[in-house]
Amino acid sequence: MKSMAKNPDLNSLVAAIARLAHRTAKLQKLAKKHGLFANDRELLECRCGVEEDVTADGRLIVCRKGAEGLDVGLRFPEPDKRGKSRCPGCGRVVECKE
Ligand SMILES: [Zn+2]
Repeated sequence: MKSMAKNPDLNSLVAAIARLAHRTAKLQKLAKKHGLFANDRELLECRCGVEEDVTADGRLIVCRKGAEGLDVGLRFPEPDKRGKSRCPGCGRVVECKE
């Protein structure tokens, strides 16, 4: 196998992936700014039956299990650095898987 430095095709692929990752990060930031779900974490859900869902137009909503797509108007706070948030329905701490 050729080393990366000796393989211009691989070098250009790595550079293209780096540019794509940079653009994706910018788009995620822009999506969040406009209230859209950036798809950069798992959706939150709680044992009490409240869970996040994403509408067809990309908005993050909260609904009850079994009634997906019907926004109940509650919102989970964005998870903290440890991935923890609090259920807006019952107050239980819920964990987000990255
Ligand atoms: Zn709950």
